[in-house]
Amino acid sequence: MKNTFDALVIGCGQSGPSLAVRMANSGRRVAIVERGRFGGTCVNTGCIPTKTLVASAKVAEMARRAAEFGVKVASPVGVDMKRVKARKDEITGKSRGGLESWLRSTPNCTVYQGHARFEAPNEIRVGEELLAAPQIFIDVGGRATIPSLRGVKETPYLTNSTLLELETLPRHLVIVGGGYVGLEFGQIFRRFGSEVSIIEKAARLIPQEDEDVSKEVQAILEREGIHIRINAKCIELLTEGEEVGARMDCLEGAPEVMGSHLLLAMGRTPNTSDLGLEKAGVARDAEGYIVVDNELRTNVPGIWALGDCNGRGGFTHTSYNDFEIVAANLLDHGTRSVADRIKAYNLYVDPPLGRCGMTEHEARSSGRRVLMGMRPMTRVGRAVEKGETQGFMKVLVDADSKEFLGATILGTGGDEVIHCVLDMMYARAPYTVMQRAMHIHPTVSELLPTVLDELQPL
Ligand SMILES: Cc1cc2nc3c(=O)[nH]c(=O)nc-3n(C[C@H](O)[C@H](O)[C@H](O)COP(=O)(O)OP(=O)(O)OC[C@H]3O[C@@H](n4cnc5c(N)ncnc54)[C@H](O)[C@@H]3O)c2cc1C
Repeated sequence: MKNTFDALVIGCGQSGPSLAVRMANSGRRVAIVERGRFGGTCVNTGCIPTKTLVASAKVAEMARRAAEFGVKVASPVGVDMKRVKARKDEITGKSRGGLESWLRSTPNCTVYQGHARFEAPNEIRVGEELLAAPQIFIDVGGRATIPSLRGVKETPYLTNSTLLELETLPRHLVIVGGGYVGLEFGQIFRRFGSEVSIIEKAARLIPQEDEDVSKEVQAILEREGIHIRINAKCIELLTEGEEVGARMDCLEGAPEVMGSHLLLAMGRTPNTSDLGLEKAGVARDAEGYIVVDNELRTNVPGIWALGDCNGRGGFTHTSYNDFEIVAANLLDHGTRSVADRIKAYNLYVDPPLGRCGMTEHEARSSGRRVLMGMRPMTRVGRAVEKGETQGFMKVLVDADSKEFLGATILGTGGDEVIHCVLDMMYARAPYTVMQRAMHIHPTVSELLPTVLDELQPL
């Protein structure tokens, strides 16, 4: 038997549920399908659990530094991984449960649990059930990439999902991949007390950032005792007795790093190979991402792809923004476009890296006349008071239009302060507006107008 709806949503990640509820509230009959845990990556194995661990790791770090602040901590700092995990599980559990009950209690919204696969452009199968609708929205997200490295089949490894289930502390965590996931986990586990080694094949960590940013992030991690191998070529995974690790042609350090646990943090792969897309005729690119236009429409009329699976974002906020674009255009006669969004993200090492718009390198290559202002965190009063003076701020503006081009805030509060610049960019306001604004003392943000007073041509 075929169940017919007005709209079908595949995946309960960061865009699917909001879209399903929005459409159901507009009177449409909607079905949403989830094969795993409600909330997808962000809630279960991504942002939320990792940020609970970042918080636990920060407490451990501050407890170790307590004497610096005149605070006495009785015994050496230790971490109870069972409690750390229980806190993480409680927070993610609430978020997951809240999302599920929101969907189940929404009138006009039917929840199916199971793997969805296309049978035709307007039909999907979930187990025994055949569901049909004139509009189908794909929000299937992605998973950790497992590259075909030598030794990968024989060597036990962890991913972001399985590492989060550990209840004991790794003695030595070897991480292959010096991107966002690898760096966040690296600092977390170092602060918990593990030995940590990070192996990166590029010439520097987070190579898409400016070189000074990569270097400062590396220095921050190394000051905490994390071993970092960059320029690691021909990585091969290894098991030696009880130990797991990697062998590589490495320009620096010994060619082998062995530890008790191995994390593969080598990027993400979209969950698009088992969706039956060929039966619907939906096109994917060479990396498996569903090809979409600026309104998130696939090549097949009536089918949209949102979130990580369309390769246009890779973050929770980009997935949610995809929902906003599709909802505005379909339900509010909007004309919103992915092309209008400004690149913005954070790296949650401590101190955090807040980023929006262009890097210095991108600004230099843009052919514009660019002005740049910089300030080390050692010259930010609030950072000094908090004893957190690592990092710097860097702001870029267009010398002719006076609009902001981008900013990097690597330092305490950087994950929040970055929004001062991001909102100015959305407003397309000249930097002189911020320059003349009175900011609150003492904050990191209060120095942004001062940085703008000191702009220099690039
Ligand atoms: C360790 C880590 C930390 C991260 N931290 C951050 C962060 O701090 N900030 C940030 O913005 N982003 C972060 N991200 C990225 C963020 O988690 C993702 O960008 C976001 O979750 C993507 O949401 P989505 O809606 O595209 O898909 P997902 O959240 O991945 O959800 C997709 C859902 O679809 C389901 N599904 C898949 N295939 C099918 C099918 N055939 N049938 C039915 N259901 C299906 C899946 O089970 C899943 O529940 C992090 C990611 C990782 C791995």
